[in-house]
Amino acid sequence: MSGRRAGKGQVPFLDLAPMTREVKGAVEEGWARVLATGRFIGGEEVARFEAAWAGYCQVPHALGVANGTDALQLALTGLGIGPGDEVIVPANTFVATAEAVLLAGAVPRFADVSPQTLLLTPECLEVALTPRTAAVIVVHLYGQMPDMGALCAAAERAGIALIEDAAQAHGATWQGRRAGSSGVAGCFSFYPGKNLGAFGDAGAVVTTDAGLADRIRVLRDHGRAAGSHYRHEFAGTNSRLDALQAVVLSAKLARLEAWNAARRSVAARYHAALADSPARPMAPVPGTWGVHHLAVVRVPAREQVAADLAAMGVQTQVHYPIPCHRQVPYLRFADGPLPVAERCADEVLSLPMFPHMTDDQVEQVCAAVAKAVAGKEHQVA
Ligand SMILES: *Cc1c(COP(=O)(O)O)cnc(C)c1O
Repeated sequence: MSGRRAGKGQVPFLDLAPMTREVKGAVEEGWARVLATGRFIGGEEVARFEAAWAGYCQVPHALGVANGTDALQLALTGLGIGPGDEVIVPANTFVATAEAVLLAGAVPRFADVSPQTLLLTPECLEVALTPRTAAVIVVHLYGQMPDMGALCAAAERAGIALIEDAAQAHGATWQGRRAGSSGVAGCFSFYPGKNLGAFGDAGAVVTTDAGLADRIRVLRDHGRAAGSHYRHEFAGTNSRLDALQAVVLSAKLARLEAWNAARRSVAARYHAALADSPARPMAPVPGTWGVHHLAVVRVPAREQVAADLAAMGVQTQVHYPIPCHRQVPYLRFADGPLPVAERCADEVLSLPMFPHMTDDQVEQVCAAVAKAVAGKEHQVA
């Protein structure tokens, strides 16, 4: 996140302050309404955001929850997936994708990813299938969707549910359809650094399935039966969206398209400037519209390149240096090598990316990357 401050001449990895400034007035007005009503959990502001988010995602139902990890866990639990079930997750993702599977009581099974996009493919999914597979979580990593038609068809052939982890892809589309609307459930995080970020933790599940929406509504509120304050039908959890965050999210949603467009033009300039350089961006997926949550390139000698960029005032991060199946809690679920995920963990480097980057900042990053990778060669696999 944007904790580190960049000095003059420095390009920060992420700067949330300009986005915060843009919504400050709307947020203060909304917060005044919440303070006047005293309705801090649920209520009108939450219902308003849920309706707006469902509409934006082109689905009938959106359920606000406490964070993105809960969104994934509640989607799994709401689908009846738990002990005895396996859920396929790509090895190249944020650890929360796999963690949610464990929290639901199921077992994660790791799949490799495409060398072009670092996203799940139908072929990688099929290799990871077993008789116990109940679902696959497709992750729209870095803001980019894979070919959802092919993945939905593969899931259908296998007779498993397809859940979308859209925590990095607010507003992305495949064939004009929004991230989160193709699978049985789409799960979002509104962590502050995401494309749509709250002023704290928040998340949502979107779905076209009214029954699933009803079950998640019950599960997120202590299993409380619909229409009853005192009757609890399931052992649920506490994972509710609060009104103060809903106000922030509504205010920011009004700007999401413009902010995503700004990210897109930064990404386009990176692509143009780095064409034919050893810093290779992810290949675009035909028919998709990415929202560039992260600007990831694959570089040779990553640690040296990152150090050189830092020396030239350009902050970078790595998403992710350790693939999920190599993280300690997940070693026991790893069976067999996942060569693409393992190799890319050593090569990926995330360049600065946020909507309010100035032309000069983009220029500085392009020049610094060109200099840092000059003369370096990718090893042949
Ligand atoms: C951020 C993120 C999550 C988890 O969201 P939290 O709100 O931090 O729980 C899950 N999956 C991916 C791909 C993410 O980037």
